[in-house]
Amino acid sequence: MIWKPALRLLPLLLLPLPLLLDDLATALSSAHLMFLASLPWLVGLIVILLSLGFKQSRTLLMVLHISAVASLYDLATASSPDNPASYVLVVLVGLIWPLMQAWITLVPERRTFSRAGIARILIVIGCYLSLVLIWRYQPIQLVQLLTALPRPFIEQLAPQLTISPAVFWWQLGCMILSVGLALMMGRRDLLTHITLSFCVLLTLADTTSRVQGQFYHLLGQFVLLIAVIRNGYDMAFVDTLTGVPGRRALEHHLISPGKGYSIAMLDIDHFKQFNDRYGHDVGDQVLRMVASQLRHVSAGGRLFRYGGEEFTIVFRRGSHEAVLGALEAVRERVAQYPMRIRSSSRPEDDEAGRSLRKRDEQDQAVKVTISIGFSTHEGSQTAEAVIKQADQALYAAKHGGRNCTRSAQQTAKPKKRRSRSDFARNPS
Ligand code: GH3
Ligand code: MG
Ligand code: MG
Repeated sequence: MIWKPALRLLPLLLLPLPLLLDDLATALSSAHLMFLASLPWLVGLIVILLSLGFKQSRTLLMVLHISAVASLYDLATASSPDNPASYVLVVLVGLIWPLMQAWITLVPERRTFSRAGIARILIVIGCYLSLVLIWRYQPIQLVQLLTALPRPFIEQLAPQLTISPAVFWWQLGCMILSVGLALMMGRRDLLTHITLSFCVLLTLADTTSRVQGQFYHLLGQFVLLIAVIRNGYDMAFVDTLTGVPGRRALEHHLISPGKGYSIAMLDIDHFKQFNDRYGHDVGDQVLRMVASQLRHVSAGGRLFRYGGEEFTIVFRRGSHEAVLGALEAVRERVAQYPMRIRSSSRPEDDEAGRSLRKRDEQDQAVKVTISIGFSTHEGSQTAEAVIKQADQALYAAKHGGRNCTRSAQQTAKPKKRRSRSDFARNPS
C-alpha cells in the first residue's frame, strides 16, 4: 500500500510550505494574524492532553521543548532582530535545542508522573528558563563572544541567514548525528524527529519574519499531533510483541468482510516446550520470528495476532487453491527458517563461557513449525462461524501430525466436537 509511506512522509513534504505562505501573510488582517499566532499553542495543548491520555511521555517532552523554543523565538523577535540582545538569545537557543531534541529522541519511554518522568519535564523547562536568565543578565563577554562567531561559509549560500553560520553548522551537525544515532537505535519516530529539527533550524535561520516562524511552530505541533494519534492507534490496534495488528484490528477488519473470503487460523506447534525449555524470552523470540515470516503471505492475505501463539490470516478473495498455496508457502517458510537460540545466561567468565558455548552450539538450532486450518465463507455464514470452522480444521491439522494445512471444506467433521480449550488441555 503506497499511501502508508506517503502519509508518513507528509510532514517532511510540508516543510517548504511556511516559506511559500510567508508572502501571503502580508495580505492577512490583524485578526487573522492573531489567530495564526494562537493556533500552534492550541494544537500544542491538544497534543499535551493526548500524550497524557495515551501515556506518551516523550511526545509530551517534545511539545514542551518545541513550545519553549517558540516562546524564546517570540521573545527575541518581539524587538528588532538586528538588536544584539535578540541575536544573543537566538544564538543561545540555537546552541541548546539540537542537544535537547537529540536527548528526547534517544531516551527510552518512562511513566510521565514517575520520579524520572517528572525529572525530565523539569530538565526541559529548567534548561530553557535558564537560557532566559542568562540572556536577561547577559555578561558582556558572552555577548561579545556570541556576536563575533565566524561567518565564513554560508553567506554566499544563504544571504538571508540572520544567525551566525557557526551556530547554523552546529545545529546541522548535531541534527545529522542524532538522526544517525536514532537510526542505529531503530527509533520508530525518526521522521517526526527529522521534521521537527528542520522546523526549528529554518525558524532560527531567518529571524526577520515572525509569521514564518509561527508557521513552522504550527507545522511542528501538527507533526507531533500526527505522531501522538499514530502512536495511540498503534497502542489500540497493533500487538507490541510482534508488531502485527492484534485481535481488536481483526474484529474491526471482520465487521463487513463481504462474501467469498477465507480465514486461516495458525498455531505454533509444541510452543509450550519452547517456554518450558528455554524460557519466556526465547518463546517471545520464536513468536517474533514466526510473525515476521507470516508477513510474507501472498494472495492478499492480512495477518493478525489472534492471541497467545495463534495468528489469523484473512483473505478477502481468492480461490481455494490460491489460498491453500499461499498458506502452504508461509508454513514452509516458517519450517525452513534457520532459527538459532542464544543463551541469555552466558557467564561473564571467558573460560566458563567457552565450555558452555560448545554445549550451546548443539542446542542453538531449533525447528519451529506451525499448523494451519482455514475455511472459506459460504452463503450467509457469520465471520465467527467461519473462524469456528477454521479452528476445527486447525484441530484436524494438529491431529494429522502438525506442520500441515487443512481446509474446513475438505475436512470431515470430527465425530465428537472438541473446543480449543479441551484440545489445549489434552492435545493427544
Ligand atoms: P500444540 O502443538 O498442541 O499447539 O501445543 P502448544 O504447546 O503450542 O499449545 P499450548 O496451548 O499448550 O501452549 C501455548 C503456550 O503459549 C502457553 C503459553 O504459556 C504460551 N504463550 C502464550 N502467549 C505467549 C507469549 O506472548 N509469549 C510467550 N513466550 N509465550 C506465550
Ligand atoms: Mg494454541
Ligand atoms: Mg500451539
